[in-house]
Amino acid sequence: MTILATNPTSVRPGSTSPQWQNELRQAVRTADELCRRLDLPELLTEAAADGAGEFPVFVPPSFLARMRPGDPDDPLLRQVLPMAAEADVVEGFSRDPVDDAAATMQPGVLQKYEGRVLLITTGACAVHCRYCFRRHYPYEEAPHSEAAWDRALASIAADASIREVILSGGDPLMLVDRTLTRLVEKIAAIPHVTRLRVHTRLPIMIPSRVTDELIAWLTGTRLTPVMVVHANHAQELSDEVASQLALLRERGVMLLNQAVLLRGVNDAAAAQIELSERLIEIGVMPYYLHQLDRVEGAAHFEVEAAEGRKIIATMRKRLPGYAVPRFVKEVPRALSKTVLV
Ligand SMILES: *Cc1c(COP(=O)(O)O)cnc(C)c1O
Ligand code: SF4
Repeated sequence: MTILATNPTSVRPGSTSPQWQNELRQAVRTADELCRRLDLPELLTEAAADGAGEFPVFVPPSFLARMRPGDPDDPLLRQVLPMAAEADVVEGFSRDPVDDAAATMQPGVLQKYEGRVLLITTGACAVHCRYCFRRHYPYEEAPHSEAAWDRALASIAADASIREVILSGGDPLMLVDRTLTRLVEKIAAIPHVTRLRVHTRLPIMIPSRVTDELIAWLTGTRLTPVMVVHANHAQELSDEVASQLALLRERGVMLLNQAVLLRGVNDAAAAQIELSERLIEIGVMPYYLHQLDRVEGAAHFEVEAAEGRKIIATMRKRLPGYAVPRFVKEVPRALSKTVLV
């Protein structure tokens, strides 16, 4: 597999790489720099630096540009700024809260639900979200060679009940298009698979990731293309994000959004309504609002499920039915996501 090197020392001088790869190389990688670029107070910088631990800061410049300078409560900043609270040990929060270990069929292949399998394509992401439930996932066990991928795909080919393959990660769009083209061709060669779904945050983080090559592999096989993006706040959905997503929609890609209910980011009905309205405006259906997975280090983001239900009730009053996401929770060993309301 060709995974983009995000290590700046490995950049070849004079190489002409796509814009999105340049943006990854320019990502902010320390709490210090993040706070400095946003003119934030020293006190916050110190707490943030302490919180980073083994999950370093990673924020691409195009996302940074959508944050409000000088505002420590900016909803985009909150998602990526480490906090001292990440080190707190809180009962009920664990390293693998969704029991991925039990659902692993083959290295890199997760199946929890009938008819759908999830391929863990890479551990890399274009951003490090502090609440991420896979922040402790053993990515080194995912397939790294063509042969390992062939073994993963063979297990899908051997099970005729599988109709949909979901590319996940990490973020599958961190792989270069050449690699993804080969992978998708192999998936399309499995006769019983009919849908290709991509779970990604990259078009939100770095809109230039929507390249002609990406559109070509996503729409160029007999598979029905579905993309599930991940935006938590309307402020993430800039005009550039909108115009890049429009390119996908014009080519017939079904666009859905999943968000996570996060304390201090989007835990108010007004914020959720604004998110849904903006999503519909740009042609993306609100799909899921997830109750936070109880991963170690993320307890300070948790919102009570009862509060989430109230938010949804308010949304239902004010929005058309299609603009209200399903509020769901991942329960280990359940046969689907569990709908809370
Ligand atoms: C969430 C998830 C899916 C997708 O579930 P849908 O309800 O179809 O969106 C598939 N596989 C795994 C392992 C998942 O965690
Ligand atoms: S983009 Fe998704 S997988 Fe990556 S850090 Fe954020 S929540 Fe986790």
